[in-house]
Amino acid sequence: MSGAEEREHLIYMGFPGERPPYHVYEAVQIFNDCGAFPVLVPNSASPQDACGDGCSGIWLAKDSVRAEIPAFETAGEKMAHKLQKREIYKIMCQFTGYHSPWGCMTGVRPAKIVNSLLRSGMTPDEAVRELKAFYLASPEKAELAVETACNQERFLQQQRRHPENVAVYVGIPFCPTRCLYCSFPSHPIGKYVKSVDRYLTLLEQELGSVIPAVRNHGLRIESLYVGGGTPTALEEDQFRTLLNILVNAVGTEGLTEFSLEAGRPDSITAAKLEAAREAGVTRISINPQTMNNDTLELIGRRHTAEETERAFFLARTAGFCNINMDVIAGLPGESPEDFAETLNRIAGLRPDALTVHTLSVKRAADLKRDARAAMLRHDVTGKMLSLSRIAAREMGMIPFYMYRQKNMLGNHENVSYCRPGCESPYNIHIMEEDQTIFAFGAGGVSKLSVPGPNAEHNILRSFNVKSVEDYLARSGEMAERKLRLLSASLDGRDLTGAFSL
Ligand code: SF4
Repeated sequence: MSGAEEREHLIYMGFPGERPPYHVYEAVQIFNDCGAFPVLVPNSASPQDACGDGCSGIWLAKDSVRAEIPAFETAGEKMAHKLQKREIYKIMCQFTGYHSPWGCMTGVRPAKIVNSLLRSGMTPDEAVRELKAFYLASPEKAELAVETACNQERFLQQQRRHPENVAVYVGIPFCPTRCLYCSFPSHPIGKYVKSVDRYLTLLEQELGSVIPAVRNHGLRIESLYVGGGTPTALEEDQFRTLLNILVNAVGTEGLTEFSLEAGRPDSITAAKLEAAREAGVTRISINPQTMNNDTLELIGRRHTAEETERAFFLARTAGFCNINMDVIAGLPGESPEDFAETLNRIAGLRPDALTVHTLSVKRAADLKRDARAAMLRHDVTGKMLSLSRIAAREMGMIPFYMYRQKNMLGNHENVSYCRPGCESPYNIHIMEEDQTIFAFGAGGVSKLSVPGPNAEHNILRSFNVKSVEDYLARSGEMAERKLRLLSASLDGRDLTGAFSL
């Protein structure tokens, strides 16, 4: 196609002002994935009489077709934005021929939308119908979101009954190597060998400054999640030191969940697993991502499928009875058959939970070319996700939390399945944002969740610096930020009072 012909088929979007309103931007962002993000035409509002229901001034055009977006003035601002999003989505579907599996649903928490529908009095069947009819989600996604939300309900009720329950997250931002697709604050540990001891000392100080204040406010630490990074990337003696710090600072008795990311099988040893069991770790993640050795090499994992199996058996032998395994759908060069083979080998191990991620190409510049090509085969990723759902069901698992990210292949999602009883309350609450979380270490994000009217939660955040160097220089400031968050947000009142129902 010539340049002139290409221009002819471009989509244009006009709006009043310099930038499109955020909800409008979100709606067209859905089509970024298939290369159809419109050309933006700022300050080009349509005349008021251009459409029947009052004109929003926003329009979309392709070739000789131009569509005006109504203002939906009588609907109230929130609903008007939803309706405009839906309208934009429908027009973009017509212009591109592309339909997102989640329809016009945007945002990272589909189950949260379902939870609010259920709270408004809808039955699960009605919620499925609403997702299909209003949000234009596919039947498969609508059912998945509602099933996930229903499986979360008893955890959400528990939090409503015990608003004093909080979570603690500890970030260890080191890994054996950096995976090609990584979007976490993680660094190859080889480059930071000399900094690890200092990092642990400062982490201990940060915990020691904040945890007593958390307790003094009448809060109860329900779960402790140690992630990063890969905490098991530490040397055995450093790993033991980390566990001692956690046991002393947080106290692991009485925790409902003590989760440990041991994502990289090449970082796992019998001694580390034994130390983790002794410290009270209840749930561990060993992440194959794929059981295809060629793909593992391509994505920079530097371990084999056989090492994953060995690490899994070591963990079982050490006595872990809640082992999660992560896989990624949409890895470069993989077909649904490759993915099915990965699922088969994982099923043979009989893990307790399976977390299925859709590849996100956010920062992996090297991956983008391949990923773009894969995007043209959206149905491939979708097919993989359908296979994983069947495999999880055959392993006796149920979906218990899910989330979406920007730039996910095919606008899909990440879902975690588990055997009933092996749910991770930490992950459920972090997605629902109904529980306060205090985060320590580089890259940690603390969130104070304060219940508001109508079961909504107001979230106040405190960010730790992301880089190891900054953390080594400023960890004291990170502790102060959290203490300020605690006191300023509550105006000096006792948190249990602020959280009372
Ligand atoms: S193991 Fe996870 S945190 Fe570490 S580099 Fe790979 S994707 Fe990033």
